[in-house]
Amino acid sequence: MEDTCAWCGAGLPGGRRRRYCPRPRPCRQEAYRERRRAAAALRARIALLQISREIRARCEALELLVADAVGNERAHAGMHSTAAADFQHLTSELVRCAVIADREVSATWEQIGRPHGLSADAARARYGRARLLWPPPMPE
Ligand SMILES: [Zn+2]
Repeated sequence: MEDTCAWCGAGLPGGRRRRYCPRPRPCRQEAYRERRRAAAALRARIALLQISREIRARCEALELLVADAVGNERAHAGMHSTAAADFQHLTSELVRCAVIADREVSATWEQIGRPHGLSADAARARYGRARLLWPPPMPE
């Protein structure tokens, strides 16, 4: 049976059994980083899903609220601003999570900035320190 490196596929030297090429080849470290990136990207995607659902739920609530106000020709003071303020926080959180998810799959700052009309430098300046704040439930 021929053993090959689980990362680069190169044939492995005989002797003791191993999964990856021996040092100084970085296969073991690269495989570890890849698993870490995949796990981080998954967390960001779960957060994106949760925020999307939250936004949809609030859109539905807002629709009912506004329809009721229109139908009854009345609205509580500050109702519209209160409803709109929720969205500002959620959408900025959504964009942050999208940037994190893209960074975890090695998107460039140029690719991240373009949809927002930002240069690579501007995107890095704005989102370079973005960390996942939304708490996604981690299946244990
Ligand atoms: Zn290798």
